[in-house]
Amino acid sequence: MQHETDQILQLLCRGEISAVLTDSRSLIDGPGSVFFALRTESNDGHNYIGQLIDRGVRHFVVDHIPQGFEAIGVNFYVVDDVFAALRQMAMAYRTTALASTRFIAVSGSRGKSVVKEWMAQSLGAPHSPRSYNSQLGVPLSILSIPAGAQFAVIEAGISREGEMARLAGLIRPEVVLITGVSDAEHCDGFADFRHKVSEKLILGQEARVVVFPSSIEDEAYGFLPKDVTKVSVAIPQDALWLEADGMLAAETLRTVGHSLAPEVVRPLKTRLNVSQGVNNCLIASDRFTCDMHSLPTAIDFVKRRAPLGMPVTLVIDRIVGDVDNRLLHTLLDKEIVNRLIAVGEGYDDTLFRGKSRRYGDGSELLRSLSVSDFSSEFILAKGEEGGAVDTLARRLEARHNETVLEVNLDAVVHNFNHFKAMLRPQTGVVCMVKASAYGAGSLELARTLQDHGAAYLAVAVVDEGEELRRAGITMPIMALNPKVTNYDSLFANSLEPEIFSFEMLEEVIAEAGKRDIRDYPIHIKFDTGMHRLGFLRGDIDRLCRSLAPQVRVASVFSHLATADCLDMDDYTLSQLEQFSAICRDMSQRLPYGFKRHILNSAGIARFPQYQFDMVRLGISLYGVDTLGIPATSDLRPVSALRSIIISLKQWDAGRSIGYGCRTILDHNATIATIPVGYADGLNRRLSNMHGQVWVNGILCPIVGNICMDACMVDVTAAPDVKLGTQVEFFGPNISVNTIAEQIGTIPYEVLTSVSPRVKRVYYRE
Ligand SMILES: *Cc1c(COP(=O)(O)O)cnc(C)c1O
Repeated sequence: MQHETDQILQLLCRGEISAVLTDSRSLIDGPGSVFFALRTESNDGHNYIGQLIDRGVRHFVVDHIPQGFEAIGVNFYVVDDVFAALRQMAMAYRTTALASTRFIAVSGSRGKSVVKEWMAQSLGAPHSPRSYNSQLGVPLSILSIPAGAQFAVIEAGISREGEMARLAGLIRPEVVLITGVSDAEHCDGFADFRHKVSEKLILGQEARVVVFPSSIEDEAYGFLPKDVTKVSVAIPQDALWLEADGMLAAETLRTVGHSLAPEVVRPLKTRLNVSQGVNNCLIASDRFTCDMHSLPTAIDFVKRRAPLGMPVTLVIDRIVGDVDNRLLHTLLDKEIVNRLIAVGEGYDDTLFRGKSRRYGDGSELLRSLSVSDFSSEFILAKGEEGGAVDTLARRLEARHNETVLEVNLDAVVHNFNHFKAMLRPQTGVVCMVKASAYGAGSLELARTLQDHGAAYLAVAVVDEGEELRRAGITMPIMALNPKVTNYDSLFANSLEPEIFSFEMLEEVIAEAGKRDIRDYPIHIKFDTGMHRLGFLRGDIDRLCRSLAPQVRVASVFSHLATADCLDMDDYTLSQLEQFSAICRDMSQRLPYGFKRHILNSAGIARFPQYQFDMVRLGISLYGVDTLGIPATSDLRPVSALRSIIISLKQWDAGRSIGYGCRTILDHNATIATIPVGYADGLNRRLSNMHGQVWVNGILCPIVGNICMDACMVDVTAAPDVKLGTQVEFFGPNISVNTIAEQIGTIPYEVLTSVSPRVKRVYYRE
């Protein structure tokens, strides 16, 4: 193995290879990459070799040469263990090409990425990309640092005992910063807080200096060897996290004779939002970094997000540091970027062919380009907040121009993790993305949930599942459709049906039989009290006799009728007990194991002891608390219905507003017209002061009858109201629960009523 890794290392040091790849989606430059075919629980890199050869990759590290690829002129380096080879190579690179590089390593439960970025920017040093902090990420980070770099800043994250020693041996940091270690979050994998802190401190065992907050002083002095310099930073009790992280970063840089540049200290909040733009564009804005080091990470992000076939435009403001013309040529030649728009000097003229342009300064760019110069393209805008490129990106964003349902994908992740934390680690979460993900739009949600480790997605109808597959969702999908009419699509898209009757079971077996399918996964639904659909306990005998080799019971489940009725626990408990009994009967009858699940959102929060093997998370994933109990009080709303004011008028008391003159003003008022009506999903029962709109911090009543495409709002009390002011119908300031109460329905209906003509705009914080 030594021999193989040495060979690749030489290619890397000679510059013949510039990228080490373990995820085929990250490919930028085929001939300049080496691919490590890793095996994970859910995937095998060897499966991607064919496709990577087609895309120009010539170097592969594998544990065997897959059949058919033996004699086709690419280089295979066969090793026993691909992951070990990657690690070994990183280790060798660290001790040769990076022998004199001064490494700063960051660990801790939170704030790692932030302080890492701040320090790297202050030092002008390369650093590990955003989430590269794991057993795999650290070797990849090390291999991405240019040979001979003066400083490097690396993040080291661990989830269980023993991992840190391995990372420490690879990074060999001179200085270590342990950011806050909180006792509340992620203690799993460790016996207790002290144990977790001591594991993090292993990173500093051989360092020259370790910097830490004084809250872990006892552990640090107790655990670190005598000859390690210990810098304890006292963080004031009332310090904001930004200030606390700033103090830690500043102290760390001081130990290597540098200081923290004050302008870098700010949250990473606005990194890489994707939002829907005008003229069917998508826009990803990176307002945080504008250098060439960070470009590959941003491009990688774009490649995962851009819909297949959509051209990519890179708009880049005056950059910090040197222009990497070679990288830009590669991106354009490979058509990873189709159009380049740049500001400033240092670029090769040959980059600007076709629709690509270079502008001398930002104001020239803003004078020359307008929103109509962009159409149906994915725009990656890199440029500082408030700069010309950022201004252009904002002009292009739909949310500043129209009625939108804004969907906060970070809030989805927060809510997902909030529920995961209530469950045993091995319990799978089925995420309900039926009804277009409760109105939020299933595609982006599915991508996000796939990335964050949901066990299953559940859709209502086969068409929804088919759409997800077409968009590249590969994780398991259940179809809860009561009636399947398109079995070709069901099987072709690996959609696993819910089976609730003998007729349906027989039909699925027959259809699978016609296509010679065996062991097709199905999900058996039992009725334990909902009295809607499902087998009864008494059906088990006949059910098990009706099963055939064409199908395999992947799971057995039921649905609760009263989990969110706090006064009906007897009923819920009787359903839960009945379900337990059904599962016992079924496992005695089936020769193989299957998953069991019954809890919905309210069920998880209230009866976690009945989590079985999986749970089904719906409304709470979207941040709606239907319970009002502490377990669900920390959810974050995901969707916000927003629009803008398109007309403002002053009317005297006594005037009537709208159809039927149903509101008569009792004061002189400023009335705003907003282009949202009942056809957009604004319930007409909110008319005539029954509902409100949030305008610049104030709740303003809806006046007059809501029209099909517009409504009027009394904004007299709101400050600074102008044409174009954004308003919120629901979201962080007006909950869907409030609206549901005002119109006598449930939040589910409010969420799913937003009409398809309202643009969905997705963003991350
Ligand atoms: C919709 C649905 C859920 C999710 O319910 P929530 O109350 O939204 O959490 C769970 N299971 C089934 C079968 C469903 O149809």
